Amino acid sequence: MQFLDLSAQYKSIKEEIDAAIKRVLDSCSFIGGKEVEEFEKEAADFCGVKYAVGVNSGTDALFLSLKALGIKQGDEVITTPFTFIATAGVIANCGAKPVFVDIDPETFNIDPSKIEEKITGKTKAILPVHLFGQMADMDEIMSIARKHNLYVVEDAAQSIGAEYKGKKAGTIGDFGCFSFFPSKNLGAYGDGGMITTNRDDLVEEIRLLKNHGSSPKEKYLNLVVGTNSRLDAIQAAILRVKLKYLLGWSKKRAEKADYYSEGLKDAGGISVPSIGSDRNNIFHQYTVRVEKRDDIQKYLKEKEIPTMIYYPLPLHLQPAFQNLGYREGDFPEAEKASKEVLSLPIYPEMEKTAQDVIISGIKEFFI
Ligand SMILES: *Cc1c(COP(=O)(O)O)cnc(C)c1O
Repeated sequence: MQFLDLSAQYKSIKEEIDAAIKRVLDSCSFIGGKEVEEFEKEAADFCGVKYAVGVNSGTDALFLSLKALGIKQGDEVITTPFTFIATAGVIANCGAKPVFVDIDPETFNIDPSKIEEKITGKTKAILPVHLFGQMADMDEIMSIARKHNLYVVEDAAQSIGAEYKGKKAGTIGDFGCFSFFPSKNLGAYGDGGMITTNRDDLVEEIRLLKNHGSSPKEKYLNLVVGTNSRLDAIQAAILRVKLKYLLGWSKKRAEKADYYSEGLKDAGGISVPSIGSDRNNIFHQYTVRVEKRDDIQKYLKEKEIPTMIYYPLPLHLQPAFQNLGYREGDFPEAEKASKEVLSLPIYPEMEKTAQDVIISGIKEFFI
């Protein structure tokens, strides 16, 4: 059994993917061009947002968003310590300081009731993460941001297409940031990312920053200092094929999640993921909580059932952020989560029989 089987998906759409790649090879238009433009339009449509701009990676999507908002040395950006390193890494790479806020133990997302106490005169933005496929409490976050005049950048790397009160991930804050890393719900066959925005006044800045600040009108005229962070045409062509299937794949993930939750509900000692009544969950990960996590992971491994831990060490305790001066005990919920979470295999093509093996394996552990 594999934790994630990317080949099952490729096999199911191989002809279309191969044709899309060939189309780019034949065109010899490898950077920018029609495929990227069309993908940006289709992705903006899918998300229900005015603009989508392709970039190199999810990390760059976050970094360029903060850059476009002018985040710099001396600024503070509020985020969650229970996420992938990139979320806070980009804040530090802008020269700013990541300021962590503990999570809601039910959803693993940032707890909005703890944000305001962390706001200082230096705070410029809030960077919530929609973790595992479920959106954070955006109403509360937006109202705090409005009250204190802060920007909001959504890390939607794990939640493309997820909804909250009828709005999709990445369409509520100033910017939404997406990753097309191959294992994400919409995965490219290499690196890729995207920034979404409804802000007419900021989209041009993103387009400049991702392409050396080059003027769209005059060659070799550079308006701002930017970088090379473009989505390439082969990836865009692949993503255009996959985007058509994404809604169906998300439904399948949710069905698999239901099947797990139903099967595990009387296992005892395990809590299954919760879904808020005003939002959905597209289950980038199916993550349970269990007290003897390391024991159960070892037990399942002996039965050749793969599981993963997202994330074993919260960011405030990472060596990379030692300079921020946090210590153990600062964010008890994030720390507890990191000791209790266990992600089970979930992907649209997964067989029910594999889920049955996993469910029985977990139940046996608790007998
Ligand atoms: C994957 C991921 C990123 C980074 O995306 P890359 O495309 O790998 O750079 C950022 N934030 C979160 C929450 C992620 O899951």
